[in-house]
Amino acid sequence: EWILSNGEIVKEQDLEISKEDRGYQFGDGIYEVIRVYEGDLFTATEHIDRFYQSAEKIRITVPYTKDVFHKMLHDLVEMNSIDNGQVYVQITRGAAERNHQFPVNVEPVVVGYTKSVERPVAFMEQGVKATLIEDVRWLRCDIKSLNLLGNVMAKQQAYEEGYFEAVLHRGDTVTEGSSSNMYGIKDGVVYTHPATNLILNGITRRVILEICEEFGIKVVEEPFTKQQALEMDEFFMSSTTTEVMPVVEISGHTIGNGTPGKMTRKLQQAFEARIKLGVIS
Ligand code: PLP
Repeated sequence: EWILSNGEIVKEQDLEISKEDRGYQFGDGIYEVIRVYEGDLFTATEHIDRFYQSAEKIRITVPYTKDVFHKMLHDLVEMNSIDNGQVYVQITRGAAERNHQFPVNVEPVVVGYTKSVERPVAFMEQGVKATLIEDVRWLRCDIKSLNLLGNVMAKQQAYEEGYFEAVLHRGDTVTEGSSSNMYGIKDGVVYTHPATNLILNGITRRVILEICEEFGIKVVEEPFTKQQALEMDEFFMSSTTTEVMPVVEISGHTIGNGTPGKMTRKLQQAFEARIKLGVIS
């Protein structure tokens, strides 16, 4: 397998990571996950833009132009012969003697790799269960930071309780999932948390909002409460790997009739049309 390591594509066994890499010691870095459909990077430009924005927000400078970076990711996918899968890529502030403050004259460390992944078609057809969990993360969730402890703890709790995902809430307000964005549909209107510092503005979310606009579906980007979430006609989550994923139960409450809703199905199909694959059932 080929790995992207600081601007070069190398064999996996040639990858060297320092014990003092700040990603390893502080989670001092950011990352992206980009979906590959039939050998093509889906919404690559948007993911690459967000990678540069996240890096800038924590004052890391990506040492290549976006075009060069895009080409590296494309070459990596090609060299690993990835048909359907994903690219994971991260940048850390670099390796230096352990001190909280930024090191001086240290180069950032970029590592990327690919993986084959199937689309979660069965879950997409049946829908998944999610559970409400308090959002105890920091206040810069707009940054796709390597610090994922809040997300990891929430996902693990959901998983141990038999749920596919955590519906995070700050007090009464539903924010997003542990690794996804959340949406409710009531009386034909789609509700989702606005893209503030409290959520990651998902690339899948942006595609979905574009589809809604195209279809003339009204979207209200305003916070909704836990109680409102339980009373939605339909509910779904989205992410690069789960696409438009119906949520049919939240914390033991059935949403709608417990099967994926009509509008959710329509959005799934429109999303699929965008990735130029066949239609689900
Ligand atoms: N919110 C969080 C916290 C995430 O980790 C992710 C990524 O998986 C998302 C939302 C969805 O973002 P995207 O659609 O860009 O994958």
